[in-house]
Amino acid sequence: MKKYLGLVKYLKSYKTNIVLYFLFILLSVAFGVVSIGALFPFMEVIFNADKPLTLEKPVTLSFDSDVALDYVKYHLAEIIKAKGKMYALAAICIFIVLSIFFKNLFVYLSYYVMSPMRNGMMVQLRNDLYNKILTLPIGYFTEARKGDLMSRMTTDTWELESAVANTLDGLIKEPISVIVILGSLIFISPQLSLMLLVLLPLAGLIIGRVSKSLKKQSNDAAEKSSEGLSILEETLGGMRVIKAFNAEQLIRDKFLHTNEELFRVKNKMNFKRDLASPMSEFLGVLVLAVILWFGGALVLKNQGLGLSGAVFITYIGLFSQIINPLKSLSTAFYNMQRGTSALNRIEEVLYAPNTVQDAPYGKSLTQFQEGITFKNVSFAYNDVTILKNINLTIPKGKTVALVGSSGSGKSTLADLVPRFHDVSSGELLIDGVNIKEYQLSSLRNHISIVTQEAILFNDTIANNIALGTPNATREAIEAAAKAANAYNFIVQKEQGFDTNIGDRGNKLSGGERQRVTIARALLKNPPILILDEATSALDTESERLVQDAINNMMQNRTSIVIAHRLSTIRHADEIIVLQKGEIAERGTHESLLAQNGIYRRLVDMQEVK
Ligand code: ADP
Ligand code: MG
Repeated sequence: MKKYLGLVKYLKSYKTNIVLYFLFILLSVAFGVVSIGALFPFMEVIFNADKPLTLEKPVTLSFDSDVALDYVKYHLAEIIKAKGKMYALAAICIFIVLSIFFKNLFVYLSYYVMSPMRNGMMVQLRNDLYNKILTLPIGYFTEARKGDLMSRMTTDTWELESAVANTLDGLIKEPISVIVILGSLIFISPQLSLMLLVLLPLAGLIIGRVSKSLKKQSNDAAEKSSEGLSILEETLGGMRVIKAFNAEQLIRDKFLHTNEELFRVKNKMNFKRDLASPMSEFLGVLVLAVILWFGGALVLKNQGLGLSGAVFITYIGLFSQIINPLKSLSTAFYNMQRGTSALNRIEEVLYAPNTVQDAPYGKSLTQFQEGITFKNVSFAYNDVTILKNINLTIPKGKTVALVGSSGSGKSTLADLVPRFHDVSSGELLIDGVNIKEYQLSSLRNHISIVTQEAILFNDTIANNIALGTPNATREAIEAAAKAANAYNFIVQKEQGFDTNIGDRGNKLSGGERQRVTIARALLKNPPILILDEATSALDTESERLVQDAINNMMQNRTSIVIAHRLSTIRHADEIIVLQKGEIAERGTHESLLAQNGIYRRLVDMQEVK
């Protein structure tokens, strides 16, 4: 229950809707009560046909059921006297129809003002989630599974939406109905209602107990369905490998198993949930039976409680109206439990600690002037140290190459510059200022990255190139494509720059994809370049084309280059040899060769002369 208070902030802009909602609910309940109240004069007309009706006008108008009933009787008698019994009967029927009409009109209006509230709430929540995901550091996504995140964004928000809708309805409308009806019941007969006040909470307690145990199953179900989504996501991404390795059976079994478990958990959950409505109806009728028995006895004995048959029937009629809201109320409790577990899963993402904090009011890096400096930088994933005591300066316009065996920490080191991760200790400075003090966007504006895996989106070639430069002209895009050695292959496509390249650029070859990413980096025209094994995934011929493009790009820029083909970095201004996260050797190609150490061994293995 408390959990949901966090959602209240999303309702801020709907204040009028909330007021109207309450108003409409109150009106609809009131008309419902009034329509049942018409039972009383109806009974009087039908059953007391022979008895003379009171004709004195009640003098006082105190708030008392006897006076109210006398008042109704008086007017009824007036009508009967003037127009006859048939007329009175017709008038009562029209009265009932009208009040039911208004009751339902206001029910509809209450839905009408509620719908934008609940949809708006979910839209804002989804936006918040999406925004949060965009600001989370890269490290988060290696920990969390994509399918899990997707299921939290979709299934869990839907689950929450239906819970919220039910809850708003169930926890606002139904209690109002219950209270208004209870109030009317007490008004009609305080004695009989005394029993209700004891019996109803007891029934509520029983229902509440059962609904609590639903939470665990909801959690399990959400986990299982997110597992299913993760498998689906991996399957779609790995289709080639699955087919090539004949792994269909394996992955199918995995999926079927998860689905099977989901089936079990969901059954368990539904068994309990479906219990809510029948159980509360049964409990309600149980209470009704007690009332019938006591009330009936009172009427039979006519113990001077002023409980005539007509009043008693009206009372029972009203009481029967309380059972439905009670049923909905208990269902709302069940749904709320399910919603809570969905909300928990959503909040885990929403409130995930953002380890890389932006400095929105920080310095703006307007012009990169001096260089990048690593000062005693160390970095650890959780508790595993990946980089230790890195001291390194990359002056403006120079190229630093990182070499070392796989897993030595090269990519991690490069990723620290655009703040994909933050250093665990030490400082990373650009132009003498700690990069944490810059606005994140101004820092990243100065950096382009080309990685081994070309990351492209399902869009046209032109739009992929213009990703970081949305206002680029077609000429600028073409010029970047030319400099990236991509122009020729692009114009040979049927639709040229407007060719859609498919999911992750799958309609292009590896070399073509990489040249599109280089064009993208070139168009952004940043002073700092990070090349992380940009050519490693390519065949020799496209590697040559890409390498030419890269050489074009590196002119007049400050570059961090990671390459496993050492021939491509021999002209770097400084070569850093990383070993297990530490700088083992450093120097130029010649000086390192002369050192006769690790670098020499690596070079000899590749036979670079
Ligand atoms: P390189 O680029 O030199 O091949 P990386 O910088 O990618 O090496 O990785 C350095 C080390 O960090 C490796 O031992 C790798 O296992 C570890 N590592 C990389 N990413 C993660 C991660 N998300 N969580 C934990 N360890 C990681
Ligand atoms: Mg790497």
